[in-house]
Amino acid sequence: MKKVDLIVPCYNEGEVVNMFFDAAKKVTDRINGYEFGFIFVDDGSIDNTLELLKAIADKNNCVKYISFSRNFGKESGMYAGLKNTKADYAVILDADLQHPPELIEQMLKAMEEGYDCCAANRATRDGDPALRTFFTRCFYRFVNKISEVDMPDGAGDFRMMNRAMINAVIAMSEVQRFSKGIFSWVGFKTKWIDFENVERAAGQTKWSFWKLFKYALDGITAFSTFPLRIVSYLGVLVSGSAFIYLVYIIIKTLIAGKDVPGYASTITLMLFIGGIIIMSCGILGEYVSKIYMEVKNRPVYIIGSTNIEEPENDYR
Ligand code: UDP
Ligand code: MG
Repeated sequence: MKKVDLIVPCYNEGEVVNMFFDAAKKVTDRINGYEFGFIFVDDGSIDNTLELLKAIADKNNCVKYISFSRNFGKESGMYAGLKNTKADYAVILDADLQHPPELIEQMLKAMEEGYDCCAANRATRDGDPALRTFFTRCFYRFVNKISEVDMPDGAGDFRMMNRAMINAVIAMSEVQRFSKGIFSWVGFKTKWIDFENVERAAGQTKWSFWKLFKYALDGITAFSTFPLRIVSYLGVLVSGSAFIYLVYIIIKTLIAGKDVPGYASTITLMLFIGGIIIMSCGILGEYVSKIYMEVKNRPVYIIGSTNIEEPENDYR
């Protein structure tokens, strides 16, 4: 019998974990021919999430939990789940029931049809704030233009993968993870299914606007070096125009003689070029800081406690 693990990252989800487990268990009990397991990853919650998870695990043999030593972020949670699953298929779901477990049946069907991966695509963003939807749309449009991978808007982390794809995703052991890019970068035959977005069952979103903004920047720098190229283009453009201007000044001086006033043009050019230099340094800095963090090779997550017998840590 094929094994399927549900990987569920949870951060302060005390209000919904029980609700989630009941709903998901109902679905998995209904599906025959597979052996289902749960891997809950408690991402350093400061509420009662871990106690609730332990209680669920005590009552259900199929439930494993991994508790991080602190909050490492959802990316780390998904990575830990994938590293620790031994199942044939793994599916990643949010704990807040925004990813309907009912889709698992459809996903399994796709896997049987021979797909390596079945990803759920949010058809709408109802239930998300309008401003956030707007910026998310802009982000995807931009990132898809400049990056080497294709990241469909609406594609979250809700997807089922087979062993081959899980191994490939784990092999991408970068410290600063951007799963949407990773999933697309590794390739594999993917089937897309649509689902309606719903509001989270209870509790609150863990994403502030600022957190999302930083995440978006990470996404851009993780899968594209285009910003660095812009810097070179700008450099060529500015020095090219400066050279033309230089020739113009020389000729003008030779013909019309010395021209002392010129304060406005000088200051404008100085500010313009200064601005470009600062911006370029900033873009370079983004990449240098990424290299710095990557070179340190710190673990993506640290397990504080777990009921998995021989857990895969990420000590590199
Ligand atoms: N999450 C996590 N660590 C974090 C933030 C979020 O494991 O630092 C989990 C969270 O518990 C949930 C999922 O990631 O299961 C998605 O988070 P959320 O619902 O807050 O995001 P949204 O649906 O608003 O994008
Ligand atoms: Mg959510």
